[in-house]
Order: sequence, then C-alpha cells, then structure tokens
Amino acid sequence: MQVPAEHALGPRPAHRARVPRRRPGRVRWARRAGQFARTYWQDIAWVVFVGLNLVAMRLIPAWGSVPFLIIWITLTTAYGFRLWHVGSTVLTVSLVTLATGGLIGWQVLRGEQDGDYLAEVPLLALMFVIMVWHARRRLTAMEEIKRVSEHNLVLLDQQRRFLQDVSHELGTPITIALGHAELITRAATDHAIVKDARVTVDELLRMRRLANRLVLLASTDSPDFLRLAPVDAAALMMETLHRWSRTPRRWAIGGLAEAAVLADQDRLTLALDALIENAVGHTDTDSRIELSTRVEGDQVVFTVRDWGTGIPADEIGQVFDRFTRVGKGRSRETGGFGLGLAVVKAIAQAHHGSVRVHSTVGEGSVFDLLLPAAPAPRRVLESERAES
Ligand code: ADP
Repeated sequence: MQVPAEHALGPRPAHRARVPRRRPGRVRWARRAGQFARTYWQDIAWVVFVGLNLVAMRLIPAWGSVPFLIIWITLTTAYGFRLWHVGSTVLTVSLVTLATGGLIGWQVLRGEQDGDYLAEVPLLALMFVIMVWHARRRLTAMEEIKRVSEHNLVLLDQQRRFLQDVSHELGTPITIALGHAELITRAATDHAIVKDARVTVDELLRMRRLANRLVLLASTDSPDFLRLAPVDAAALMMETLHRWSRTPRRWAIGGLAEAAVLADQDRLTLALDALIENAVGHTDTDSRIELSTRVEGDQVVFTVRDWGTGIPADEIGQVFDRFTRVGKGRSRETGGFGLGLAVVKAIAQAHHGSVRVHSTVGEGSVFDLLLPAAPAPRRVLESERAES
C-alpha cells in the first residue's frame, strides 16, 4: 500500500507559505515560439511579405500582376537559398497557388480582372515545380558524388595502409633470408651452391628494393614524408657522382649551378639514384653518363643524361606510371618492377616539383628533375671563421 506523501513526511505544517502559481506550460510554449521565430525568421518574414502582396493584389488592382509575380519570384529566390523538404515545398506551393489563384479568381468573377490573368497561376506553379524537380535531381546527384568520393577516399586509405603493412612485414624476412644467402655465398665451397646462392641474393635484393619502393609510394601523403632543409644542388650532384663513379661508365659533370633547394636530401638522393640506376641499366660500360645542375627560372634542374638505348616515342608517355616497363622483350635481370620513375615522380611532386624526359631511340635519354629554388645556404665567411 502506498503511503500518502504528507503522512510519510509527518504532520502538515500549520500554514503553508504562499508560493505564486507557475504556469510551466505557457512558459514552455513561449520559449518554443521564440526559438521557432529565431530559427525561421527568414521564412516568417517571407510569409509576412507575401501577406502584404496579397493585400496589395486585393486593394490596389491598378498594380496589375506585379504583386502576384513578386510573390512567385520571392518564392523561387527563397527556395534557391535553402532547399526545403518535399512536404514543406508541396505545402508552400499549394498555399501560394490557392491564395493567389483564389484571389484572382474572385476578382475575375467580380469583373475586376481579365480572365487570362487566371491562367498565369497554374503556369507559374508548374514552372516552380519544374525548377524544384531539377534542383532536387542535382542535389541527389551531388549527394551521390559526395558519397562515392568519400567511399573512394576510404578505399584509398585502406589500400595505402595495406601496402604499408605488407611492405613492412616483408622487410624483416627478406633481410633475414638475405643474411643467410650471403653467408652461404661466402662459406660454400661447392661452385654450384655458390652460384645458386648468388641468384638467391640477387632476387632477395630485388624484392627488398620493391618493398622499399612500395613503402615509399604508399607514404607520400603522410605528413612526415619529407624532412626539409636547404640542400646545395652542386654539392649533392658531386656526392652522387662520387658514389656511382665505381660503376664502369664514362662519367661526366655537365655543369654545376650555384643553387640550392629546400628538400629532403635522403629522398632527393633516392630519386637521383633511381634515374642514374636506369641510365646505367640502359647503357654499355663504355657509354657516357652526364650529371648536371642548372637554374631555369625559379627552379633548379637536376639532369641525368645518358647515351644509351633511349625510349620509343610511343612508350615515353607512360614511363612515369607505376609498373610501366618499356620494351616487352626485356629480361628479368635487366628490368625492374616499373616503379623507379614512379618513385622519382612522387618525390618530385612531394617537393612541389616535377620530372620530365627527352629521349631518342639509339641516341639516349635526358631526365630532368625540377625543384623550386631556395635561397642558397649561407656560406661561412672567412672573417666569421676567424672570429669563432
Ligand atoms: P624499372 O624499375 O622497370 O626500370 P622505371 O620506372 O625506372 O622502371 O622505368 C620505367 C621504364 O622506363 C622502364 O621500362 C625502363 O626501361 C624505361 N627507362 C627508364 N629510364 C630509362 C633510360 N635512361 N633509358 C631507357 N629506358 C629507360
């Protein structure tokens, strides 16, 4: 059994203080109305404006169809700014049609207006409905495009992460297997085993290069892809030449500009190495390979030129695409995976630069890596050196 509240709490007080009676319902309604007015003030203003025009239609026939047309024009304008829901649109169009049509019909019946005037009402309503239909169609198409592009972004992200994970996971076993294979090439006495182990080492090196390039291509969007610092273009080219000079070719320096770029030196070195590796791969041991730097407008151009096989004109357009390999007949040993130039392009673009090629079959190729020039790194003056 429930105990009434006053019994449960003890005897009633002798007299209660008089508390003014509140009207929570009214307060809530007033608050809601205020909120509604604040949210929909433009629509309310438009409704008031339409009301004034209806009054003008009724009281000032001399204005002819002007207030009537103004109502429809403002309706179209208001709809253009904010696409209403289908229900609100149907209700609004019906109300405006009925109000204007009813008023004009009544005036026609009383002989105050021409009968033709009445025909404009359904025509304008129809025009408005067609406009709404097109707007909705476009909205649906735009929503679909947005949905598809969001979905594509998710897929791209998944693909990038998958590539990164796979490449990372491949790295460790490749390194371990490489260590073992190299050990066998050194320790084995049987010539056949040494030969097989060398093949294994070569293949594992290829795989490691592929994994590294895949990781690089998958991480170009990440914010820490580049660690930028001023790089002296000529010094970098000389360093690069020095590293490659032991590979048998006729190496040359074409010209070195006094210029600097704001770049990630490791990434830039990787790009130059990929270009030089290709040049080496497409030349004979007695062929010339020339490295140079120059300034072109506000860009520094790093050039790798070779006098090798060259690239056929019909294939040159695709060489920077991923997994593109020129010349179907190339052997596995000399050919890569078609990722070298894609890596060069990705590194150039990450630096807001670009890469281009000129090539003639039988004469050779010229690859230019263009990066925005940066103020030259300050050289320490003799006087400063003496002071320190
Ligand atoms: P890969 O790793 O297979 O060499 P790349 O992306 O580096 O792939 O090169 C794409 C294609 O362009 C390759 O098939 C390669 O033969 C060709 N290529 C690149 N550089 C040169 C060059 N200096 N001379 C001739 N062909 C080249």
